[in-house]
Amino acid sequence: MGAAITGETHEELVTDLISKMGNNLSYKKLPVRLYQISRKFRDEMHPRHGLLRSREFEMKDLYTFDTTEENATKTYEIVCQVYENIFNRLGLQFKKVIGATGNIGGKLSHEFLLQSDIGEDTIIVCNSCQYGRNIEIEDPSVRENKCPRCGSELDQMSAIEVGHSFLLGTKYSEILGSTYKDKNGQNIVTQMGCYGLGVTRILQAGIEVLSEDEAIRWPKIISPYQICIIPQMKGYMEEKFMELANNLYDELVTVPNLRGEVVIDDRTRFTVGNRLTQANRLGYPYVVVIGKSAIDEEQKFELQDIYNKTTDFLSSSQIISKLSNIKTAGQ
Ligand SMILES: [Zn+2]
Repeated sequence: MGAAITGETHEELVTDLISKMGNNLSYKKLPVRLYQISRKFRDEMHPRHGLLRSREFEMKDLYTFDTTEENATKTYEIVCQVYENIFNRLGLQFKKVIGATGNIGGKLSHEFLLQSDIGEDTIIVCNSCQYGRNIEIEDPSVRENKCPRCGSELDQMSAIEVGHSFLLGTKYSEILGSTYKDKNGQNIVTQMGCYGLGVTRILQAGIEVLSEDEAIRWPKIISPYQICIIPQMKGYMEEKFMELANNLYDELVTVPNLRGEVVIDDRTRFTVGNRLTQANRLGYPYVVVIGKSAIDEEQKFELQDIYNKTTDFLSSSQIISKLSNIKTAGQ
């Protein structure tokens, strides 16, 4: 094992690691789940679409080792469910399809994808049930137009792959001698799985599928900031507006899930409208304008829910109680 290894996949490395534990690895220690979260490098000939196809990217990989095929299948189902939960939490409408095992090999494979015209994968999905497959696994001469599960029509679409799961069986563990000791002290080959989430890819693909023509829309929960406060343009009573903005900021960041989630756009040389346009394009989910209504008798701040395109005039305590409930990655 060397420090300079920059391979696309690390099955061999990780299996080798387990095989070195081999003689001492009791069945009681399984399942073992090893994560590798790191930057990877690829000699990409044609980098394009920002982080979708780049020479450097962040991956979350997981390698699992189980005693039996049945247990490995259970692990496989658990990890796939976790991946589904992650995409649901990100608010991304994903497709889970049967994938090609390709050069990694194995018994079973699923891909997680987001529908997009710029996607480089083509998938076939059922209109009525959850069935789907990558066309890579099809034999073109026997293409079926009906769902093999429910008989409904199938749709073909382009999609961006953001996650992948493989039930590997013993392909790697046999070659590399990854074994465990069973109850009787016998050495048995481990059953493996390997799983990947493209972290940078999910970010770029999420923006790709959610954004509007001229405005970024993030998977809300991973938006770099949730709230942008915009105080009135400099001029009449400018110190008062800035003080109100600072006070609101201070109160918001004491809410545990809003720590690090609030910015003040204090470029008061620009009009509120100008900064609102920019905030909309950058995709802050919420904007609070500290305008003239903040210093009249009612003291109302303007809260804009950017993604739902709604505006409310609220007191600062109403704003804090409303924004305290938004979901952030810190929760
Ligand atoms: Zn179906």
